[in-house]
Amino acid sequence: EEIALVSLVQYIIDRQVRHQKDKRKLYFELRGTVRKVFADAQHLEHILDNLISNAFKYSQNKPNPVLILTFNENNFTINIIDYGLGIPQNQHKKVYSSFFRGDNVRDIKGTGLGLLIVHNLVKMNGGKITFESEENQGTTFTLEFPYF
Ligand code: ATP
Ligand code: MG
Repeated sequence: EEIALVSLVQYIIDRQVRHQKDKRKLYFELRGTVRKVFADAQHLEHILDNLISNAFKYSQNKPNPVLILTFNENNFTINIIDYGLGIPQNQHKKVYSSFFRGDNVRDIKGTGLGLLIVHNLVKMNGGKITFESEENQGTTFTLEFPYF
């Protein structure tokens, strides 16, 4: 279905921010010229909810996360950036497997299923997901989707 991507993203961010304690916020940046997008709104909501909640959860007491939505010529991308704990380099290969939990997040609750679901939903919708992460520096997840 055709979706209003910018307002959907803003709505998801606002809801996540309302759940945060300690007055944490998320900075939302828009790049490029807004275009019509055909996508499954519920899937996108689920994907972004998971990635944004991870960004907050694994960056407590650190600077606030950032989300950048970019309308490119042939696709749109969403970067979810945080300055938190990061994922240890030797565990990068395992992030999308079931029940994966980084050995640096033992004190933080989680089941290790969020990213597995996100990964499947992204693929199901013709998108791509990649990430860059460095321990104690932060993590950036990047989503890329075609317009149709
Ligand atoms: P849940 O199933 O409730 O989401 P979870 O957050 O542990 O639990 P995933 O979202 O699948 O599960 O993430 C898996 C693991 O990947 C996390 O436990 C954490 O080790 C690592 N991880 C994911 N996102 C981040 C992030 N933004 N910063 C640091 N580590 C992350
Ligand atoms: Mg999670």
